[in-house]
Amino acid sequence: MKFESILLPGIDAERPLVIAGPCSAETEEQVLATAKQLAAVGVKIFRAGVWKPRTKPGGFDGIGSPALEWLRRVKRETGMYVTTEVATEKHVDEALKSGVDLLWIGTRTTVNPFAVQEIADALKGVDIPVLIKNPMSPDIELWVGAIERLYNAGVKQIALVHRGFSSSDMTVYRNLPQWHIPIEMKRRYPSLPMLCDPSHMGGRRDLILKLSQQAMDLNYFGLMIEVHCCPDKAWSDKEQQITPDALKQVLDGLVIRDTVQTTESLAALRDQIDDLDNELLRLLSKRMRVSREIGHYKLEHGMPILQTQRYDHILTDRSSHGERMNMSGDFIKQVLEVIHSESIRQQMVVMEEVKEKEKPKPKKNRPNG
Ligand code: PEP
Ligand code: MN
Repeated sequence: MKFESILLPGIDAERPLVIAGPCSAETEEQVLATAKQLAAVGVKIFRAGVWKPRTKPGGFDGIGSPALEWLRRVKRETGMYVTTEVATEKHVDEALKSGVDLLWIGTRTTVNPFAVQEIADALKGVDIPVLIKNPMSPDIELWVGAIERLYNAGVKQIALVHRGFSSSDMTVYRNLPQWHIPIEMKRRYPSLPMLCDPSHMGGRRDLILKLSQQAMDLNYFGLMIEVHCCPDKAWSDKEQQITPDALKQVLDGLVIRDTVQTTESLAALRDQIDDLDNELLRLLSKRMRVSREIGHYKLEHGMPILQTQRYDHILTDRSSHGERMNMSGDFIKQVLEVIHSESIRQQMVVMEEVKEKEKPKPKKNRPNG
């Protein structure tokens, strides 16, 4: 595949490329005020959601087409480029008619091949940069599929936005970074610029700098950050939006290491290790949860906790699997032994708890009378 670099005259190739603006266009005043403050701190690309995909009906789902006129004013009055999210053919047509300079495909759309194809068809013969956010679920092939659909429709100016992946586990992030997924995308598509959206990833203002720095350490090309003139009054995603001044502080606080190749940078490798360790911990806790469920099952069916045959099978099966993955069989055995003994301990706790609950309560002595 042969992509073209994104052509926006006046924008230099220096990292990070910054796209900033509110989650949603709410009012003409809010859009213009935010845009002017952003232009004053040097931002060149303004974002604002015109059509907002909401999980449930009844909430604010964007102003819709009338807000496109506000974006036109932003271009006219600040000289910034503007971008908005599109999810249907109608959105694409209206955004193009209004002179939107870049389009982005949101995470809820990237997961839907029908919707991505509809957008791709609407873009046939149109030369406009398109940013593709990662799909909500950690399924790399959906992200790849969206690139291919657009590419096949003739869209050659493509960039990717890593905004994290949803997870049922409680974590500090609104959406888990899972850095290994965008790293794999960078390996497969080295010429596609990768941007990070720390706002949706962290879901919290105080995580924006740290996540942006991690992205820069991984040699990401840019950042898409939600900025609002009055974040506390935002109609959507208010916990994660920052003021234009706060954005300036974030950008000033970033250390950009341009001389070192990402994967060779120690900081970047350590970030990957941190991420993978967190992943291991999450998986271990999931495994323990399942073990406790097995404990309940065994108790209900009068089975003993330790089933040696099953344990033997686990050890031999996993250690040969581990060997095929370039690890020593002994190492895998040792790891499994400690995991197994913790599982057994957890199942014993389950049994104790259930037995405790089932114990007949001692009757209180009633006074004779
Ligand atoms: C957004 O950028 O406002 C948005 C809805 O993002 P995402 O698709 O990443 O949730
Ligand atoms: Mn948002």
